[in-house]
Amino acid sequence: MKNNYEELEEQIGEAGGDDGLVGKKLKHAASYGKKEELTKDEKTDMEAFLSRSAHKRENINIGDGWIPVNREELGIRSIFYRPNWEFFIKPATVNAIKNWTAIDENRPDQLNRTFNEICKSCIKIDSHDLSNVNWMNINSWDRFWFILKIREYTFAQGEAKIEFTDACSECDEDIVYKLDSNSLFYEFPDEDLVEKYWTGTEWSIDPREYGVDHEPITLYTPTLGKDDTIIEWATARANNRQKIDETFIKFLVWMLPRPSSDPQMTERQIQKIYNEYKSWDIDMFQFMDDVVRNITINPSEKLKCKCSHCGQEATSNVRFPDGIKVLFKTETRAQKFGSR
Ligand SMILES: [Zn+2]
Repeated sequence: MKNNYEELEEQIGEAGGDDGLVGKKLKHAASYGKKEELTKDEKTDMEAFLSRSAHKRENINIGDGWIPVNREELGIRSIFYRPNWEFFIKPATVNAIKNWTAIDENRPDQLNRTFNEICKSCIKIDSHDLSNVNWMNINSWDRFWFILKIREYTFAQGEAKIEFTDACSECDEDIVYKLDSNSLFYEFPDEDLVEKYWTGTEWSIDPREYGVDHEPITLYTPTLGKDDTIIEWATARANNRQKIDETFIKFLVWMLPRPSSDPQMTERQIQKIYNEYKSWDIDMFQFMDDVVRNITINPSEKLKCKCSHCGQEATSNVRFPDGIKVLFKTETRAQKFGSR
């Protein structure tokens, strides 16, 4: 029997920007050990990571463990962040790795929480102005990319490869896919749509250009912070035995601007958006459905790899043959206790 939460997960799972791997509940943020000084090993990790990546060595303060992420590595996805934002990452802390190791992989809420905890403690955004920008502003589709980046940084010394075999999507021969940040595959909105309707901070679209009688609309990219707010909101509703309109949630992730930290304010914001959503006629609804489908960057994690048989770019869904724990599994000399 499914509990309330699992049902909710399923409902929200279809929401835009979902990463398909895990649900999206964030609660009870676990306390991380504060990390002031890098240990000798961590310093070596950092050196190893830096020597492999194309980072310029100047301007990097090795002392505090943060290193800048080259935005070019995000490719086209970079345009969905403000140009002045600079991203930094640092290795997962011992505590984060402990939490990771202890997760129950059958609990999407735990997986989601652990993913977000890694993001929270290992991603920093510098806006180079006074605005306060944090990990919650990461676009939903980039979470897994950042997690893999952090993982590569954390284990820069060891060859902690994750590989699995799957049929080539082009020629059907079995090939080995390697899971790393470079091999993630993304689908993008049509270039002309981006050029015409992406303002640099939001999507601004006039339905009347498409023969739909409605005022211009503004949509905002789904972010980890918004996902979180919407889950909190939906959970509260479910607890009060109020209905949740799944279709509405699919649009809500795009229509909700920066969410408020005040739940009452959020409630009012969402109510207003719901009224707007309810007012759409069939034409507008169909139009919006097309819009959301076309501006989404792929909702599930996909990998690409060059096929050694046919030479084409093959794609496969990300999978973890030994479970998701392997992402932050550390090799130790200790022997495993028991068979479970
Ligand atoms: Zn092939």
